Amino acid sequence: MIKIAVYGKGGIGKSTTVSNMAAALAERGLKVMQIGCDPKADSTAGLHGGAAIPTVLDLMREKGRDVSLDEMTVAGYGGVVCVEAGGPAPGRGCAGRGIIAALDLLKAKGAYEVYQPDVIFYDVLGDVVCGGFAMPMHKGYADAVFIVTSGENMAIHAAANIAMAVESFKGRGYARLGGLILNRRSVKNEEEKVRELAGDIHSAVVGTLDRSDIVSQAEELGKTVVEAFPDSPMAGQYRALADAVLAAAKG
Ligand code: ATP
Ligand code: MG
Repeated sequence: MIKIAVYGKGGIGKSTTVSNMAAALAERGLKVMQIGCDPKADSTAGLHGGAAIPTVLDLMREKGRDVSLDEMTVAGYGGVVCVEAGGPAPGRGCAGRGIIAALDLLKAKGAYEVYQPDVIFYDVLGDVVCGGFAMPMHKGYADAVFIVTSGENMAIHAAANIAMAVESFKGRGYARLGGLILNRRSVKNEEEKVRELAGDIHSAVVGTLDRSDIVSQAEELGKTVVEAFPDSPMAGQYRALADAVLAAAKG
C-alpha cells in the first residue's frame, strides 16, 4: 500500500490532477482510494459523475461514531473508493481539526484493511496553514508528499511553504517529499521557475501537465479526462504522471 498526499495552492489543480491519476492507476488494475481533505468536499466529483456525496464529518454529525464504512465511501470510476472528509459549517469550528477527526474515524473503522488499496491519494486543501491540514503528512497516513504548482509566484510561494513543513517534520516518521508536479499556466519562463524551486527544496519535478480546455470539458461531464477523453494527449499526460508519481512515491 502506497500512500500519497497531494498539496498545493488553492485552485492550482490538485483535485483534477489527483482524480485523473486515480482513474489512470485504476485502469492499470490497481485498487485506488481517494480521500478529499477539503471542506468543499469536491475532490472526487470527477470520479462519480460530479454530484456531491455524503462527507465523513456530515455523517458523524448525524450519527456520531455509529457510521459504517459503506456510508462513508462511494465507488467511483474504475472502482476507485471515493471519500470526502468534509468540514465544519462555515464560521463554526476548525476545518483542520475536522480533517483529523475524519481520518481518525476512517482508520478506526478499518477502511485500510477492508478495502486494501494499493494506492491511497489524500487531496489536501491549499497551503499548510494549520496542523490539521498537515495531518496527512503524519506517521501512518502518507508516505510521500507531492506538490502541484504552476510558475505563478503565489503557487511557488505556497509550494515552498509546504516543502518547508515537510522538511521540518523530517526524521520523525512523517512523510517525505516526493516531488513537484508542474501544472502549466502559460507563465513566462514557467519551466525554469519551477525547476529552480525544485533545486531550492532539494527535490525534483516528477511530471508536467499542459493547460488544456479538455480538462474543463471533462469536468462539465462530471468525469476525468482519462475517462471522458481516453485517447486525448491530455489523458496520456495524466497516465504518464500517475506512473511517475507512483514510482517516485515508492522511492
Ligand atoms: P481547491 O484548492 O479549490 O481544492 P484545486 O487545487 O483542487 O482547488 P481544481 O479544482 O482541481 O483545483 O482545479 C481548479 C480549476 O482548474 C478547475 O476548473 C479545473 O478544471 C482547472 N484545471 C486544472 N488543471 C487544469 C489544466 N491542466 N488545464 C486546464 N484547466 C485545468
Ligand atoms: Mg480541490
